[in-house]
Amino acid sequence: RFLSFEGIDGSGKSTQARRLAEYLKSAGHDVVFTREPGGSAGAEDIRKLVLEGDADRWSPATELLLFTAARRDHLERLILPALDAGQIVISDRYVDSTRIYQGVSRGDLRRQVDQLHELMIGREADLTILIDMDPKIGLSRAFARQGGEERFETMGQDMHQKMREGFLDLAAQAPERIKVIDGARTVDEVAEDVRAVVDAFLS
Ligand code: C5P
Repeated sequence: RFLSFEGIDGSGKSTQARRLAEYLKSAGHDVVFTREPGGSAGAEDIRKLVLEGDADRWSPATELLLFTAARRDHLERLILPALDAGQIVISDRYVDSTRIYQGVSRGDLRRQVDQLHELMIGREADLTILIDMDPKIGLSRAFARQGGEERFETMGQDMHQKMREGFLDLAAQAPERIKVIDGARTVDEVAEDVRAVVDAFLS
């Protein structure tokens, strides 16, 4: 089974993804925890190329191609072999992030994201946990964090609001796959909801 976590910057999705991986491991599952952009050696190199360069080094379309190349490498080298071996794969971000970040936020490329996905990736997550939250809360959390490659966190609040709505639209279009969880609560409360959704999915 292939599980992904999605959400705007500062939503707490990475913490929740890690917590779920630990929980499933302690329950005896064989779990591979990974992330995007990145997740395989080649894809991590592409992550650096995009996120550590100047924000305008790549056009939105080129960035989409680079992240699609990164995803292809991640899929071939890590995700598919792990799934074939019967492991549960948990990815902190996957293609829904591209639908929103490259498709909506960086340019008007939604159609191209889906076309490239169909052409070169072709694998959706089986279950996606969307950690939903008011960007005002997410942003203040993200700014409070030190370091990181958080160039998108300097975007305005309007854009974050648009991205939140974009994620919620995706969930409305794919309610079987994408489960929305209210992230504006304590880490433990959110984790409990995540577990309930995943336990139901796995049983
Ligand atoms: O989730 P994480 O914090 O690792 O993401 C790193 C950065 O990459 C974030 O600033 C996020 O906004 C950005 N990103 C992106 N396009 C994606 C996924 C993440 O620009 N498809």
